[in-house]
Amino acid sequence: MNDVLPADAALWELFENTVQSVLKSYGYQQIRTPIVEPTSLFARGLGTVTDIVEKEMYSFTDSMNGDELTLRPECTAGVVRSVLEHNLTYDGPKRLWYSGPMFRHERPQRGRYRQFHQVGAEAVGFNGPDIDAELIMLCQRLWDDLGLTDIRLEINSIGDAQERQRHREDLIAYFEQHKDQLDADALRRLNSNPLRILDTKNPAMQDLVNQAPKLLDYLGDESRSHFEGVQQLLRNNSIPFTINPRLVRGMDYYNRTVFEWITDQLGSQGTVCGGGRYDPLVEIFGGKHTPAVGFAMGVERLLELMKASSETVSVSQCDIYLVHQGEAAQTQAFTLGERLRDAGFDVVLHCASAGSLGSFKSQMKRADSSGAPYAVILGEDEIKLGTATIKYLRETDLQKNQQSIELAAVVDHLIDHMTGQDDHNHVHLHAGQIHTHH
Ligand code: ATP
Ligand code: MG
Repeated sequence: MNDVLPADAALWELFENTVQSVLKSYGYQQIRTPIVEPTSLFARGLGTVTDIVEKEMYSFTDSMNGDELTLRPECTAGVVRSVLEHNLTYDGPKRLWYSGPMFRHERPQRGRYRQFHQVGAEAVGFNGPDIDAELIMLCQRLWDDLGLTDIRLEINSIGDAQERQRHREDLIAYFEQHKDQLDADALRRLNSNPLRILDTKNPAMQDLVNQAPKLLDYLGDESRSHFEGVQQLLRNNSIPFTINPRLVRGMDYYNRTVFEWITDQLGSQGTVCGGGRYDPLVEIFGGKHTPAVGFAMGVERLLELMKASSETVSVSQCDIYLVHQGEAAQTQAFTLGERLRDAGFDVVLHCASAGSLGSFKSQMKRADSSGAPYAVILGEDEIKLGTATIKYLRETDLQKNQQSIELAAVVDHLIDHMTGQDDHNHVHLHAGQIHTHH
């Protein structure tokens, strides 16, 4: 479980703002569900022979009342519970999204943590291939907006329960014939969840699973035409994809469309987003049949990818660092600080530490390390003259890096200067001090 320190938090903010605006641009509405849910919710929703339920859940007994509880390992179960509890689909289908921490007791490694974060979308009440394609296109738009180019799309259809049952029988027969090549995990799954054997990461079993009967060959007309519909829409919208007949998802509740977004830049933890259709889940939870489809993306993995991509994100604490010396100057600095904030600037006013404000020089050091483009200086001379000195901290030309301005004109002057800078230097994001340099 990781701390996100201020230096990284800015990248998180950039990611979160981008993802929010992309989801909003497709009409998805946010839902926030509790981090703790009854353990039975996940056992019922995810299936008892899944990795998550078998060995990854942080489950505990509430010592006050004996309730069996679990820190959510994923959010689909919680969202569906909430949709049912509040009858959210009473007036039609809903496009929902969520964001937050998830907990899985896994062996920590690069891209795999015990508290990690997901952003996900769930489209509840839609049955056509159109919404499946929309969710995939939404992801593509997000990668584009984040400047991520090295993410590829794999899709598959895992059909419906009957189709999987026929495939499953043939699959078990096939693996029975090659029992000597199965590892312990696979042997354990052979009769409980053989489809998951196809998802093995064991290199020694790759040939075996490649030759195994393919679920795609077992699809009936409806599943097949749904899958073709998804592909057609992706082609129409120029979204490249490959069909991976071995792609299955970790949870039992999926049917028909499944997809993953994968990068080669993160080593073996290369899946940054996974999703699919889960038409049976609402009924499993006791609701009436309600088709649904969704995805979840791993925020830590995407942030690592953002860091690895060539675009640099520079971070500053504020736009303006206010330096002052003397009592009269301090009074003026407080007033000026508020006026600058009224105008929309982010301002750090130098405050005392270790018992004093510190020398002018040490204050300027703070101003520099804040990353602010401007220092505004109020010293005794400035107070006498009714001015402020503006120091342009990013200006390398020494002739141009300092200017004396009438106190009353400081705000307007800085607005003009910043607007001019914005036009040709960088994108100034609403999030605050995050500038993306191209
Ligand atoms: P994996 O095969 O890597 O274990 P998964 O199938 O368990 O992934 P999902 O349950 O589909 O993953 O979760 C969606 C996304 O959440 C994953 O594609 C990944 O990006 C991210 N994710 C899952 N588990 C972790 C984890 N322990 N740490 C960080 N990110 C994770
Ligand atoms: Mg996993």
